[in-house]
Amino acid sequence: MERISWNQYFMAQSHLLSLRSTCTRLMVGATIVRDKRIIAGGYNGSVTGSVHCVDEGCYVIDGHCVRTVHAEANALLQCAKFGVPTDDADIYVTHFPCLQCCKQLIQSGIKTVYYAEDYHNHPYAIELFEEAGIETVKVELNYLAVDTNYTEKKELVSSLLNKLSDRGDAESAALIREAEEMFQLK
Ligand SMILES: [Zn+2]
Ligand SMILES: [Zn+2]
Repeated sequence: MERISWNQYFMAQSHLLSLRSTCTRLMVGATIVRDKRIIAGGYNGSVTGSVHCVDEGCYVIDGHCVRTVHAEANALLQCAKFGVPTDDADIYVTHFPCLQCCKQLIQSGIKTVYYAEDYHNHPYAIELFEEAGIETVKVELNYLAVDTNYTEKKELVSSLLNKLSDRGDAESAALIREAEEMFQLK
């Protein structure tokens, strides 16, 4: 049995949180970690009690949806609400933080920002992080590491591919290549 790494474990948590997002434009999740413990989590969504983008559509001004509190901010605010210190903590986010979140993370004492995907990485945000001595580390989620029945799926796909390979046509060959890539069979 191979244990999941800390980075994958926390990054997977952020991806799980992102599935609760209520904004249809982008689903973001954030997990705040101190001493290898999850202390807070957030996703981008409306303020408590208000309507959701998924129900009413986004409220777009200048190309941005203004309805939501961003995932990073929600995670920090959860700490504020319950009195949990964020100084020297790390954050795991599904997407590179926007400029506003960047400033809030610096101000909250966050030391390392782990992000899975680049997302309009703002040059000023990068500059501010550098200035504040905050490390930004790209950690892509390895879906295979967090799939609990990956071995069974892989075996099933392998046997399906064997049957498919007998056909020898171009369509089957394309499907085989796609599956091999997805399940990292080669
Ligand atoms: Zn929205
Ligand atoms: Zn943001």
